[in-house]
Amino acid sequence: MTWVSDFAQGSGSQRELLGGKGAFLAEMTRMGLTVPPGFTVTTDACRHVMEHGEVPDGMWEEVDAALGRLEQMTGRSFGSGPEPLLLSVRSGAKFSMPGMMDTVLNLGMNDTVLEALIDWSGDEAFARDCQRRFQQMFAHVVLGADEAPFEEVLTDLRAKRQVTDDSELTAADLAEASERFGRVIAERGTIIPDDPRQQLRDAIEAVFRSWNNPRAMRYRRINRIPDSLGTAANIQMMVFGDLGEDSGTGVCFTRDPSTGEKVPFGDYLPRAQGEDVVAGIRNTLTLDDLAGINRAAHDELIAVMDRLEHHTTDMADIEFTIERGKLWILQTRAGKRTAAAAVKIAVDMVEEGLIDKSTAVQRVEPGQLEQLERPRIDRDHHKALASGVAASPGAAQGEAIFDCDRAVDARREGRTVILIRPETTPDDIHGMDAADGILTAQGGKTSHAAVVARGMGKPAVTGVGTMRVDGQGRRAVFGTLEIKEGDPITIDGTSGNVFAGLVPLVEPRPTPELIHLMDWADEIRTMGVRANADTPDDARRARAHGAEGIGLARTEHMFMGKRLEIVQSIILADDDEAREAGLLRLEAMQADDFEGLLREMDGLPVVVRLLDPPLHEFLPSMFELEHQMVQRARDGESTEDLEALEKKVSRWAEDNPMLGLRGVRLGLVVEHLYSMQVQAALSAVKRRLDAGGDPRLELMIPLVATTEELRRMREMIEAQILESGITIPIPVGTMIELPRAALVAGDLAGIAEFFSFGTNDLTQMTYGLSRDDAERLFLGHYLDEGILASNPFQTIDVDGVGRLIELAVKEGKAANPNLTLGVCGEHGGDPASIAFCRRAGLDYVSCSPPRVLVARLAAAQAELATVARDV
Ligand code: PEP
Ligand code: MG
Repeated sequence: MTWVSDFAQGSGSQRELLGGKGAFLAEMTRMGLTVPPGFTVTTDACRHVMEHGEVPDGMWEEVDAALGRLEQMTGRSFGSGPEPLLLSVRSGAKFSMPGMMDTVLNLGMNDTVLEALIDWSGDEAFARDCQRRFQQMFAHVVLGADEAPFEEVLTDLRAKRQVTDDSELTAADLAEASERFGRVIAERGTIIPDDPRQQLRDAIEAVFRSWNNPRAMRYRRINRIPDSLGTAANIQMMVFGDLGEDSGTGVCFTRDPSTGEKVPFGDYLPRAQGEDVVAGIRNTLTLDDLAGINRAAHDELIAVMDRLEHHTTDMADIEFTIERGKLWILQTRAGKRTAAAAVKIAVDMVEEGLIDKSTAVQRVEPGQLEQLERPRIDRDHHKALASGVAASPGAAQGEAIFDCDRAVDARREGRTVILIRPETTPDDIHGMDAADGILTAQGGKTSHAAVVARGMGKPAVTGVGTMRVDGQGRRAVFGTLEIKEGDPITIDGTSGNVFAGLVPLVEPRPTPELIHLMDWADEIRTMGVRANADTPDDARRARAHGAEGIGLARTEHMFMGKRLEIVQSIILADDDEAREAGLLRLEAMQADDFEGLLREMDGLPVVVRLLDPPLHEFLPSMFELEHQMVQRARDGESTEDLEALEKKVSRWAEDNPMLGLRGVRLGLVVEHLYSMQVQAALSAVKRRLDAGGDPRLELMIPLVATTEELRRMREMIEAQILESGITIPIPVGTMIELPRAALVAGDLAGIAEFFSFGTNDLTQMTYGLSRDDAERLFLGHYLDEGILASNPFQTIDVDGVGRLIELAVKEGKAANPNLTLGVCGEHGGDPASIAFCRRAGLDYVSCSPPRVLVARLAAAQAELATVARDV
């Protein structure tokens, strides 16, 4: 087994083994680009370390041999002069995790090498800066030292010299920094090995370890990257962006990652090393500025960007360094982009002939499309408080919060958060995840905050130079104005503007590119997409997004608000007359509701589900009634009426209502409720027919467990249809929400014309997990601890719930080949679950209106995956 691969050996197709960074470095080397040479220690080696707790036999020998080849190729020596070879040691997993794992730069440094580096460069300040950077990174990454004492030394030196930037420190300052760093390290009882080879071994092991640091683990949870993959370690000759005025470093994208526009986009920082750009320490220059500084390097960079984009047929994110005028390409990867950019780039690339339509449909992550639903700021009407870099588009508003942990707490309490920081670092990932928007004082378009916010699809404004952040004092100062923690604030990541307070927002409109992409998705997919909608407004919105009907209208939602009183009067009626009066009033209202839905979805199916929740949800709570009685008694008033009410309400109280009198059980036990709803639905159909419409009503029974329940309900419905004189087909079906229903699906299918899998309840009932309580109380812990790989209420549990669905599909279809199959639980809008639904052979998914676009795209991707699998 080999554990090491030279860049010159590998290729771009080896992402599993070499990680994304290693594979691209190999590919660029093959293409003949000016990549600093190096080698990759593979992900196999990292996995070996994770499994066995030690590096594999023979690995260090292979590293030494690769190092020997590198010395030969570069004509430099590792650990000595006259031309010392310094190395970067960087992580790189299969999926890019920007900034989450560790890196050591300028490795191979000791006092002898320092002298050689001074001679070679003729620039003592540069050489000493390399040394202090190395000490700082090695101490933090390998020795586990805190960063704060090192920063304190630098802050102190900058203050003494009265400068704001480390690049302005002199050789003497930096010598002092090095010396003081050495002391900090020694005081901890640690030491940096003098032997460069030992440094290299330690750094490689530290990079492997960093795969499992808390922020990397958190990032993987958020982005659903498997823990088992491991990272590679890339060892590469250092080139120096801080070697004089004709050196610098930058990050660029071949297209604008915020909008997708086809313009080169990037940041350049003269006299700096790569990490400085991402850390957002100084506000950066643009690529146009670079053209003014070094035209040849700029033009060469543009040519490289073009080549890489054509070669990878994707938008590339490139890190580069210019060392004494010469351009070096340090790494590339597919650039992280916003949803709007992803859509535009995919469609533009089809039009440019770079990719085909199927590839375009696969290029956009379906979940990202929800971002496009995000409201925008009606820009003309407001005066901005400040403006910065439009780093990640869309508007966000909420409370100003200056600390990541507090942002997480606020989120847990259901508050919306704008996280405000001087800059962000990878340690802030949890705060950024909890925030609705991110605002920083420093950093450009490619700073950490910008890249991560775009990856998360959250609005961000960075580099607001006029904002001073005082995190301790929990406030941000904009000239004479101040925003304190908890104050409302709005940011617009599309324009880069920041507003005090909550400014009004407007709905977005679909772009022509989005319309194209969705058309292509519709051509590909075979599964239908319906929406869960209970109101005509929702139905209209869903149809505008391409929903092909309503897969679930929850009629109980129509019983809320002012109608609650009528519902209560029916449930608590003392006599038939009172009940009948209430039912008639409600029926008239329901008929209007259903008519509205059928009108909006004219010509498309509308599945009306008869009442589902336990009755107590419509009644005043016993607790509330008792509270009122106590108050009245205290005021000396009569409580007689309340006592009577309490007696009636207590009749319906249950210890486990979710397992109680709900769904079809209500239909069978509480007379008239279901027949009233059926009557209302039939009246609505009649009205639509009279108006010349094309109503396609379907009636659905919830929480069925036995065939007898379904048979009785169906008989009742058929009788009412017959009586109504309506002759158009009105299919009657059942939800499959209980494990028993799935197990007897063959029998149910003899009575049902369709099945709709209610995966919310089916998950709850299969797992024995309360969907109302589990997420709050312990699911989070299960997910954090890896006891569950994903939340089963979000992504279908393929092994358990999935098997029940597969069984029900198989036996249901065998008994009734005309059975229509759909899903209407939350999973209907989740891309991974949609892929499962396609594999299971469902005819459609139904999801909430904002996820209709997501579902259309995910269904197309599921189709392409199925076709690829079956070929
Ligand atoms: C379900 O259980 O999946 C379902 C759609 O019904 P509800 O969420 O209304 O219980
Ligand atoms: Mg349900």
